[in-house]
Amino acid sequence: MIRINENFNKLKASYLFSDIANRVSEYIIKYPDKEIIKLGIGDVTRALPPACTKAFHSAVDEMSFDKSFRGYGPEQGYEFLRDKISEKDFQSRGINISPKEIFVSDGAKCDTGNIQEIFSGDIKIAIPDPVYPVYVDTNVMAGRTGKNQDGRYEGLIYLESTEQNGYVPDLPSESVDLIYLCFPNNPTGSTATKAQLLKWVGYARDHKALILFDAAYESFIRDDSLPRSIFEIEGADEVAIEFRSFSKSAGFTGTRCAFTVVPEKCRAFDSRGDVSYLHPLWLRRQSTKFNAVSYPVQRAAEAVYSDEGQKQVRELTDYYLKNASLIIEKMTGLGYSCTGGKDSPYIWIKGDRDSWKFFDLLLEKAGVVCTPGAGFGKCGENHIRISAFNSYENVQKALERIEKALQ
Ligand code: PLP
Repeated sequence: MIRINENFNKLKASYLFSDIANRVSEYIIKYPDKEIIKLGIGDVTRALPPACTKAFHSAVDEMSFDKSFRGYGPEQGYEFLRDKISEKDFQSRGINISPKEIFVSDGAKCDTGNIQEIFSGDIKIAIPDPVYPVYVDTNVMAGRTGKNQDGRYEGLIYLESTEQNGYVPDLPSESVDLIYLCFPNNPTGSTATKAQLLKWVGYARDHKALILFDAAYESFIRDDSLPRSIFEIEGADEVAIEFRSFSKSAGFTGTRCAFTVVPEKCRAFDSRGDVSYLHPLWLRRQSTKFNAVSYPVQRAAEAVYSDEGQKQVRELTDYYLKNASLIIEKMTGLGYSCTGGKDSPYIWIKGDRDSWKFFDLLLEKAGVVCTPGAGFGKCGENHIRISAFNSYENVQKALERIEKALQ
């Protein structure tokens, strides 16, 4: 008898963005003539940088001739891309990450979801609340949690991000083995200072733990004092894995390219307590289950690091940050307390009501779609997330409508 993995039954019945999509569909049926402005799901709206499309096109052309055609690529990614990442994202900033330590992939979603496979089933996991849902759900599927009770899974340690701690969680009071961190944060838009990351790295070293650091929004950091990589912290290369993505920096959400950094020194332990390095494990996992990102996509990603690519990516992220400033200005002016939006495309707004009620109000009265904070965890109650991913004109229009709706 074929049986299912019953851990899937523990997952909350519907996924946040499907719930939102359903409410938006109902709204469209009810008001077919009203225009909706979407500031909800974190998808970008502007085209790929021209440097990327140019490289993309010419790589596609190469594939049309036998002599330049390429079949399966190296599972870890082509050297031309890993060399550029190592040089431009790390070495030039004084961080010693070599191309060998970089694993190119088709998304930080897959990597942050798959990485848990290389850890034991009985580890203790600390997960921020609110959180990007992938970290939680993939551990639920793998059977590392109990049931969901009142919005929280038994067996997980929740790291609360609240107004009191500036949406940067404190160290856990108990000993944990695996810690998920994400800065600039989705959904709160909060950032962590070097001093804050230093504490986490110290904790991981003291407790023989590991940090999974999601830096998918690193390209939005404008404050030079903020760390762009956890590897800016001394000793982090022994206790952390970092995830990056071209999705939000260069508009690759539909093109798919990202990378994960697993330093060769990064360690975990076996059941005898002996050190075991994670780099060979992840390499084995990827070589077995993943067959690399397509050649043209990797060429397009490489173009991000050209001089023109760097300028265009900066212009792209600046555009969304300008939207974010406008959102903060308006929502603060309306009396709401806002976090994020300065070094992040997300603005986390403390509302004066239940987050789904706030969502419904903005949809019904303003035709604006945001994301209800409760969908990201218990601490998201009474909050909404507004994303800066839309045109400046639409953001302006949405804010005018929100102002009217809240009066
Ligand atoms: N990590 C975080 C925190 C995200 O918010 C997202 C996308 O929204 C991802 C990872 C996924 O990135 P990718 O498009 O590379 O899969």
